[in-house]
Amino acid sequence: MSFEGIKLTPKREAVLAALGIEDIRGILEYYPYRYEHNAITPFKALKNGDKAVFYAEMISSASSYRFRKNMTVTRFKILVEDEYELTATIFNRPWAKMLKINDRLIVIGRYEGEGKLTVMNYYDAKRQDVLGIIPVYPLKDGIGQNDIRKIIELVLNKIDPDDYEQIPQKYLCSHGLIDYASAIKNIHHPAGTQALYQALARLKYEEFLRFYLALEYMRGSDDQKHKPIKHFDPKQIKEFIAGFGFTLTKDQNQAISEILGDLASPKMMYRLLEGDVGSGKTAVALVALYANYLSGHKGALMAPTEILAVQHYEAMIVHLKPLGVRIKMLSGSTKDKKAVKADLAVGDFDIVIGTHALFYDGVSIDGLGLIITDEQQRFGVKQRRMLKNKGEMPDFLMMSATPIPRTLAGAIYGDMDVSIIETMPAERKGCDTYFINHNRIKDITKDLEAILAEGQQIYIIAAAINKSDLIKAKDISAVFDEIQNTFRGYDIAILHGRMSSEEKDEVMKRFNDGLYDILIATTVVEVGVNVKNATGMVVFDADRFGLSQLHQLRGRIQRGDKRGKFYLLSDTKEPSTIERLWVLVQTNNGFEISVADLKLRGMGDILGVRQSGLPSFVLGDIFKDHKIIAAAKSDAKAIIADDSDKTKLLAEVIKKAQQNYID
Ligand code: ADP
Ligand code: MG
Repeated sequence: MSFEGIKLTPKREAVLAALGIEDIRGILEYYPYRYEHNAITPFKALKNGDKAVFYAEMISSASSYRFRKNMTVTRFKILVEDEYELTATIFNRPWAKMLKINDRLIVIGRYEGEGKLTVMNYYDAKRQDVLGIIPVYPLKDGIGQNDIRKIIELVLNKIDPDDYEQIPQKYLCSHGLIDYASAIKNIHHPAGTQALYQALARLKYEEFLRFYLALEYMRGSDDQKHKPIKHFDPKQIKEFIAGFGFTLTKDQNQAISEILGDLASPKMMYRLLEGDVGSGKTAVALVALYANYLSGHKGALMAPTEILAVQHYEAMIVHLKPLGVRIKMLSGSTKDKKAVKADLAVGDFDIVIGTHALFYDGVSIDGLGLIITDEQQRFGVKQRRMLKNKGEMPDFLMMSATPIPRTLAGAIYGDMDVSIIETMPAERKGCDTYFINHNRIKDITKDLEAILAEGQQIYIIAAAINKSDLIKAKDISAVFDEIQNTFRGYDIAILHGRMSSEEKDEVMKRFNDGLYDILIATTVVEVGVNVKNATGMVVFDADRFGLSQLHQLRGRIQRGDKRGKFYLLSDTKEPSTIERLWVLVQTNNGFEISVADLKLRGMGDILGVRQSGLPSFVLGDIFKDHKIIAAAKSDAKAIIADDSDKTKLLAEVIKKAQQNYID
């Protein structure tokens, strides 16, 4: 730890260590997560339940008594505005009984009506520092608000925060942002709301600027590397596309032309392809892999699951193998792994498909011209860069079915170019979604029988594999009993993540071949599975799932030429949960859903907690701060481009940002 000569007591050092703060800047930028507004309240203006802040005079002594185990309640009478007599109650501060008649206090609490006040805190009346806008800091066990407040106060008194300014004046001026010192003083001790907003704007800008500087910096160093340009014959590509048997959508064509442009340029492709479930990303990937093949390079496609890898493999066998492309697949269930690995090792392949294990055990990335990942939501900046920095500088395409609007994608995947497929293939029949506020099959038995009577198949999704006290959800065997009792004479199978891949594949294959009417499954069917004859889906305990996840599931039943029927079952009585699930009833647009989901659950959750490798901003809000983001992004480019601005800012910022964002 380095606190630049400031003497700290061992206790304070321990506090900082516990909070993971290592230097002065860390202290200065340990921001409050909220503020309390403590303004003296006129008694007459109070309504029951309002927060109250009073100057008060003790007009009785305090009496204290215990109840339950270790609980105390202390009561005393106070006089407010020399006029109103209130009974004050404070819990679990046994020392409050030492308050005496005539003591003058500031009390902060809640007015309960009828002259009663529940006190949260009280202070000596001279303590002006507790009035105004008071910062509240995030805490850890054993650390109090005052511990942190005092350390920050000490540091602000000993140093000149001006010395910590990193952003060139001209950028601040052009956006009307205040300097670092004022911002830091005001974030900890806001002089008023206006000053607080100015501080927030400035510090958010700095946060985003650091993020984009790090990305731009890394990107810039990549831009200087030149990869071999890829040559391919557009006529051959055209013929290949003609073989699909459908006309590409406008957005598919646009994405393809962006990708082919990247392949043919000396800059490494580093692109995100976003499109809702069923928008036809696979066709785009096939074209990219084919162009890469025509240019004499090998390619790889990485899928998140066995089942999906197999589907991609089968698509390639249909479309690419007849053109002479050598296709290999390597995954957990590959029969003759040794032989496949040997082929891969000597380069006896053109395209390899596999789960992500592919790259840890088997394929050397060095010889690859193009790497595509499908649905690897957990692929953070670090993993992406690991691929990017390997050997021959492969072009990299990341496909995602979590459709995030372009503006947000810029903030989340700031280092990548983005292609978006928004238009759906015209013949998509869509889906009807129903929310049933009962977690039982009874209410929809008739509907489901109608689906089965037409020879269509149904998925039933359970939220839990096993019974558990923690998760109040019907587990897969409870669901199985219920379904079996309701649908007699139908073929029913079970699929879940604890089965071996062989078992899973076998069940999936039989379902695909129409041998089962009903498949009871956990979310293992979430991604990519493509059974055209399955048009019904029921989700038990739908409240246990995220919106994006449910939308993904719903995508499974929109693969054929019949309209899907999607039933959300839940016992929840929680209005906000019902409202959340209702989003799915109202829209089938993945972009709207992922925005709703992001707002409700936060980025980390939707894209896979923590492992997602997403940047997390302390103050910045990627939903609200579009203007600041845009400013920071363009300034980062300018700063990187303009050598004279590359002060110590860059070095420090990049070091920090790499720790913070690129994890
Ligand atoms: P996803 O984007 O979810 O990966 P897929 O690539 O699996 O979607 O495509 C879903 C289905 O739509 C596939 O059966 C595919 O053959 C079909 N498809 C893709 N593009 C088109 C199109 N332009 N017109 C008609 N069908 C298409
Ligand atoms: Mg797909």
